Amino acid sequence: MGIMDRAYITNPEDLKKYIELVEEEKAFFKKKTGNELPLRVSRHWMKLMENDPDDPLRRQAIPRAEEFSLSREESDDPIGDRIHSPVKGLIHHYRDRVLILITDKCAMYCRHCFRRHHTGKSSSLSFSEIDAILDYLAGHDEIHEVIVSGGDCLMAPLETLRYLFIGLNRIDRPMVKRMGTRFPVVDPQGVDPRKVDLLSEQKSLWLILQINHVREMSPEFDSLIALIRARGIPLLNQAVLLRGVNDSIESQKSLSYALIERGIKPYYLFQGDLAEGTAHLRVPLDRALSLYGELSRTISHLALPRFALDLPDGGGKVNLEESPFVKRDDEYFYFKNGKGVTGRYPREKE
Ligand code: SF4
Repeated sequence: MGIMDRAYITNPEDLKKYIELVEEEKAFFKKKTGNELPLRVSRHWMKLMENDPDDPLRRQAIPRAEEFSLSREESDDPIGDRIHSPVKGLIHHYRDRVLILITDKCAMYCRHCFRRHHTGKSSSLSFSEIDAILDYLAGHDEIHEVIVSGGDCLMAPLETLRYLFIGLNRIDRPMVKRMGTRFPVVDPQGVDPRKVDLLSEQKSLWLILQINHVREMSPEFDSLIALIRARGIPLLNQAVLLRGVNDSIESQKSLSYALIERGIKPYYLFQGDLAEGTAHLRVPLDRALSLYGELSRTISHLALPRFALDLPDGGGKVNLEESPFVKRDDEYFYFKNGKGVTGRYPREKE
């Protein structure tokens, strides 16, 4: 076991040293078959958690048997990654930007993860797989942005990140980089400072965090963020709206205020995707829309994230703050995506 692994908990026996598991949590470990999203949580996160099954940090990190309940609308690939993947590790869904899934590892496996068909295995892209992605980018002049995610981009080996950046910087047009990570809140002291250096050397790079609750921001996180900001790396946050975690005005306001105080722009708030076994963490869309409406009337535009959802089956992103839906009936909301195609999202009940 390496130094890094000692900072993480991956089995229920270790969990019990920190918290008393409740029936729903114990039942997950009894039922599990090995095909589920694994347990992985940092000791740092455990220290931020309260010994309460309803604690917002615990709900994001500790699995419950509810993950075995699959609703009719859920899928293992809710936003249609597979149908938009021309090359291994690359998703090309929108004309001018692509997503690179550089690794399938994460610092913590979030129980709401929508990319659970990909995350939690244990590999990163090889140099030859990165070469195939770079060839694709070189042949598609319309691509201007790459979003490097996973998994968690900061879990990729330093040399893999460096190899990717060298290749991207050789392309003879600007290639804006967006890096998606949760590592800084999950294990701030575990972030490799050489990776921060590498990121700071890149032109046009944005670091996009996922922070869902104000209590995720610890003094250790603040020190890391001070370093990242001192290196001139711009910071944004993409949160996920989660039942029992941040589905109240107070929780959203305190999150947004704490982010802008730290120089992190709240960028997006996402409605939960229809990922298998995540219904207990989704907020019904009727309530989500009214919550966001109230939030937008309450806080400044600097503090207000955009609110969006991804239509199932690769239907694309729709911004919910504009014309939220074209119609709704008892079962579904109907939306038009950016290409004018109608998609639907279920009208789940409380
Ligand atoms: S960090 Fe992102 S990809 Fe990893 S488990 Fe959490 S939500 Fe999924």
